[in-house]
Amino acid sequence: MKRFSILEEKPDIIGITSGMTYWYPGVFKVIEITKKVFVNAPIILGGIYATLCYEHAKKHSGVDIVFNGRGELEILKLVSDLTGFEIGLSEFRNPQFPIRDEIYPAFDLYPKLDYVCISTSRGCPLKCTYCASSFLGKAFSTRDSFRAVDEIEYWTKKHGVNNIAFYDDALLIEPSKHFIPMMIEVIKRGISCNFHVPNAIHIREIDEEIASLLFRGGFKTIRLGFETSSETTQIETGGKVDNQEFRKAVKNLMRVGYSGEEIGVYLMVGLPGQRVGEVEEGIAFVKESGANPMLVEYSPVPHTPLFEKAIKASPFDIENEPLFHNNSILPCQWEGLTIADYRRLKEGLRRK
Ligand code: SF4
Repeated sequence: MKRFSILEEKPDIIGITSGMTYWYPGVFKVIEITKKVFVNAPIILGGIYATLCYEHAKKHSGVDIVFNGRGELEILKLVSDLTGFEIGLSEFRNPQFPIRDEIYPAFDLYPKLDYVCISTSRGCPLKCTYCASSFLGKAFSTRDSFRAVDEIEYWTKKHGVNNIAFYDDALLIEPSKHFIPMMIEVIKRGISCNFHVPNAIHIREIDEEIASLLFRGGFKTIRLGFETSSETTQIETGGKVDNQEFRKAVKNLMRVGYSGEEIGVYLMVGLPGQRVGEVEEGIAFVKESGANPMLVEYSPVPHTPLFEKAIKASPFDIENEPLFHNNSILPCQWEGLTIADYRRLKEGLRRK
């Protein structure tokens, strides 16, 4: 395992990443502090905000270079150009994951490590109209399943980590090539860990075999990306799942041992033009299946097909100010679905 010291007094270059578009003020603060401490080091800003709001980042972040897009190989070339330090790109065995397969994130620098996040695939082949996964990840690709298990084993056995959250957008896509061999290997190596899927998993793929592997492999937090029970909205937003597939998946999960409470089902609230009745129907539908409905507020994401519609529907200037993408303000609220409606629904679920 390669490790580089991050405690350089005079770094040649500093790379800063970014997450949600509406978190950019925190990123700007980091940039401001970094510039004060390392006066002459060039700063590259990359990540999700930098890619989705490239022009905004170029104009306001104050860094030397805004890196737009995925490309670890491109960033390695850029580092070579800026520093003169030759990085042997041919050393990386998987060009799709040149860094993650070779150098694990330095989570162990945290004084206490309760959990880590892991990604074993990139992107998603589906194209839901509210999601930027295909824009950010371009082609869907997976890591070598055994190398991903090597990383899981590294965190669990070397650092005593008991909880790992999969940050994959499409963990269950093409399961016979990726998820199934990966989980069989986890079980074979006797790795004991609680796994979580906060980004939700694809409902359509959950047959009996997958449900059983989830259960036996140690997945504790099941989250299903259902979003709505309205067949019209399902089709309009990309058709990733239908109601029948949902019912079947819940049945398979319950059959292998999950309780309804453990099967959290995401339902989107506040899609452009969505009425409160649609969300109420979704909640009732999920409850009827025995699973646990969970509301997620829609956040408008630049470069997604739904973004234009969101700009028109929103009372906020979401086109020019990423702070208004923040889901907590319900960016596309309107008289058909108000903040008061949302609070009432949320309260109802809390009291259940
Ligand atoms: S299935 Fe999930 S990850 Fe894929 S495009 Fe739809 S919302 Fe995004």
